[in-house]
Amino acid sequence: MEAISIVGGGIAGLALAACLDPSRYEVSVYEKRPELPSVGTVLAMWPNAQRALARIGILAGARAVSTVLGNGSIRNAAGRPWITIRGGELFGISRVDLLRLLDGAVPRSVRRVVAQVREVPGSGALVAGADGVHSVVRREVWGAAADARLSPVIAVRGTIPSSVDVAVVGEYWGRGDLFGIAAAPGGTNWYASWRSELGPADIDVDEALGQARRRFAAHAPAIGRVLAAASPECSLAQRIWTAPPLQSYVRGAAVLVGDAAHAMTPNLGRGACESLVDSVVLADLLNSLPRDKALAAYDRQRRLRTRALSVGSAAMMKMALADGAQPFRDGLLNLAARLGPAASHP
Ligand SMILES: Cc1cc2nc3c(=O)[nH]c(=O)nc-3n(C[C@H](O)[C@H](O)[C@H](O)COP(=O)(O)OP(=O)(O)OC[C@H]3O[C@@H](n4cnc5c(N)ncnc54)[C@H](O)[C@@H]3O)c2cc1C
Repeated sequence: MEAISIVGGGIAGLALAACLDPSRYEVSVYEKRPELPSVGTVLAMWPNAQRALARIGILAGARAVSTVLGNGSIRNAAGRPWITIRGGELFGISRVDLLRLLDGAVPRSVRRVVAQVREVPGSGALVAGADGVHSVVRREVWGAAADARLSPVIAVRGTIPSSVDVAVVGEYWGRGDLFGIAAAPGGTNWYASWRSELGPADIDVDEALGQARRRFAAHAPAIGRVLAAASPECSLAQRIWTAPPLQSYVRGAAVLVGDAAHAMTPNLGRGACESLVDSVVLADLLNSLPRDKALAAYDRQRRLRTRALSVGSAAMMKMALADGAQPFRDGLLNLAARLGPAASHP
């Protein structure tokens, strides 16, 4: 038996704990939250994440509490669609439900410790940093240069109980802001981003909602209806942080998974998906190979792919939140709409 300490019992940490072979690993999960969160918005699950959920054994359970996302359009601020994106098999699941299902998949043999880790545990024993964008493991083992980076952008999001109107689903790109409307299990999921002086910590959700209502007042009427129905209790507001690129996700006996390794901007909706995939890949390699070979293979399989997604996501954010370049961007997208199939979209 080899000991492994997992710092962080969020999406990545629970998925890793669920997949490690209990006959080979003595697993401890350190999580600072005493309970699973009760508020969370919707996460889009891409096909690779669905395969990871199947490996964990919770795909059917996840589907049962999810909603199919369907097609969505990239639109101008007034709501006119430029490009329609086919949703395919994408489904949306509440973070609360996803964490509950992952938690239920963790074997009873796993030791749960409710504690905020301040120093990386163990001496030479395997440590997995699954502690999110502000990872203590990354800071302690990779050094202060690997600390999270603050973006000037705020993300405000929430759910409202009224069911989504499919005619208005999509992402609305204005001048320096974006607003998204999508289906949620039992209602509508919405999100908004713009450069904001609020934060970086302890952002007052009410104040952020007020800013959003003023900022989007002249946008499409669908946005106004969603924001009128939004309540602070069902909304979250945070500044966007990202992890800097690392030369390796492995250093000595420490390995990073999820946002601790590659926190990216949310614009491609891939962070949680890639966190699940990281953990399944790492667990399967550790279950079948000697430790050093497993860690090296994990880094090879996951680092470049997640780096590419981080870069793509940042580029998407830049385009969606274009300010000075907004007329040029809109001109290009107007042209794409005239030439492409979105022209016939209602
Ligand atoms: C606005 C927004 C929208 C998003 N939308 C999507 C989406 O649609 N689809 C998608 O795939 N992804 C999305 N993401 C990204 C997704 O939320 C993250 O990628 C995902 O939560 C990462 O999971 P994680 O387990 O690595 O980290 P986290 O979810 O941050 O979990 C880390 C855990 O570690 C614990 N922890 C932290 N520090 C310590 C410590 N020192 N000691 C003990 N415990 C600790 C925390 O309490 C937490 O439980 C979005 C992100 C944002 C900001």
